Amino acid sequence: TTQVYYEDDVDESYLEDTTVAVLGYGSQGHAHALNMQESGIDVRVGLREDSSSRAAAEEEGLEVGTPAEVAQVAEVISVLVPDTVQSAVYEEIEPHLEDGDTLQFAHGLNIHYNQIQPPEHVDVTMVAPKSPGHLVRRNYENDQGTPGLLAVYQDTTGEATERGLAYAKAIGCARAGVLETTFQEEVETDLFGEQVVLCGGVTSLVKAGYETLVDAGYSPEAAYFECMNELKLIVDLMYEGGLSEMWDSVSDTAEYGGLTRGDRVIDDNARENMEEILEEVQSGEFAGEWIAENQVGRPKYTQIRQAEKDHEIEEVGERLRGLFAWADEQEEKPAEAPAD
Ligand code: NDP
Ligand code: MG
Ligand code: MG
Repeated sequence: TTQVYYEDDVDESYLEDTTVAVLGYGSQGHAHALNMQESGIDVRVGLREDSSSRAAAEEEGLEVGTPAEVAQVAEVISVLVPDTVQSAVYEEIEPHLEDGDTLQFAHGLNIHYNQIQPPEHVDVTMVAPKSPGHLVRRNYENDQGTPGLLAVYQDTTGEATERGLAYAKAIGCARAGVLETTFQEEVETDLFGEQVVLCGGVTSLVKAGYETLVDAGYSPEAAYFECMNELKLIVDLMYEGGLSEMWDSVSDTAEYGGLTRGDRVIDDNARENMEEILEEVQSGEFAGEWIAENQVGRPKYTQIRQAEKDHEIEEVGERLRGLFAWADEQEEKPAEAPAD
């Protein structure tokens, strides 16, 4: 069974007299930096000279330098810039990695697919909160925690796990539970999950359902409510009490219809596609494609992203959401899109 750590399992003295450099002040970066600062840790934020994030970090009383400057003074360097720029930023900090330093990540992509190859004299760890950064911050402020993953890729000091746990505690993850994993498992399950279920699968399901209804002559408004708006209510029930609570809450008609029809949507063909997508993740084919796409300036990404924004369901949804009385009272939207 998977090892899960809580606050009592953590010895925070492993981060005593340690300076932590947080590279990037975006979704995860601001949350880690502020939570650690409030946990009493000496934190520096690493940003490029002309960074748009600089003012926000300084306003919170954080000391800001370039990635190279803060890496030089820190013993733990937490790489929280976007995955696609991490290998370039790493070039700047590599000369400042000293014996026994820790290179810390929140996602294992660049290490697992060898885009960053750290020297043997440093520890390489991952503390990956399983939530968007704004929630990592908000939960901490409300004396709550965010579950997280801990993985050790390289342990030169013999203390990589303990130091990783101290980091996890300092950002609030140990309040909710820290699950031990590996870089490989974190990367492969994360990519598979976001592609097949969370981001890719669910949006394609919504669009296909919507288009089927509209193509059959039903109103776009009715199709929007059935295929997109109600999804939140269904997901909330699954989140609270699993599939059972959801099935118990819908009508018997919905339960019978869903149980007899769901597997016709996600049929053997769909499952074969899932296996194929998993293989592309495992083989590195997906990572290679994504790295190459970034190297040529993201032409395909730009085009498909725009096509998604232009989908009819977006226009219909925006109009309908504007009519909801409760729209104004909705939770504040995160500053950064919770990509994963
Ligand atoms: P963001 O996109 O929010 O990071 C933006 C920050 O990085 C900004 O401060 C930006 O500053 C800085 N930055 C961007 N480009 C550069 C550059 N070339 N050099 C220096 N700084 C730069 O990142 P996330 O927080 O989304 O992701 C960080 C890591 O956390 C990733 O590994 C991601 O996979 C992981 N993760 C993210 C989650 C999330 O909730 N988003 C969830 C779990 C893990 P500037 O103003 O200079 O552009
Ligand atoms: Mg219904
Ligand atoms: Mg992800």
